[in-house]
Amino acid sequence: MTRALALLLLTGCATVSGVVESAIPGERFEPPAHYEALWREVHADLGREPGDFARVRWYQVPGACLAVEHVEIDGEPHEVCTRATTYSDGRVGPPVIVLAGESVTDDGTVRHEMLHVVIGMLAGHGHPLFESERYRSNFSSEGR
Ligand SMILES: [Zn+2]
Repeated sequence: MTRALALLLLTGCATVSGVVESAIPGERFEPPAHYEALWREVHADLGREPGDFARVRWYQVPGACLAVEHVEIDGEPHEVCTRATTYSDGRVGPPVIVLAGESVTDDGTVRHEMLHVVIGMLAGHGHPLFESERYRSNFSSEGR
């Protein structure tokens, strides 16, 4: 019996600290104008005054995933697609967010990475806002 590869695409989100700019993948881009409104939304959700949006550096890598990891969940093979990575939350140098090209237009992913920057990425995914629909990728069946 052949077991078909489950096509469920989970979304991974990685955070990496203390990286030099030359090690950041992809091309830097100017954020679309509406990102600043998303930035204000994330701060409002946290009850904070908006931080300095212009400090955030944005990079994109063409494609749907920055990386694909093959994992087994309950004995079934799955692919985990990393759609974005926060490289710095701004404590050391400017905040750096890298998005897979497909996710540049996905507000959920953008809010998710902004939340890592605003609360400090060492906090991981413990904050309840990460469970909100608005902080999830539209491209993922699991929404992470
Ligand atoms: Zn994340």
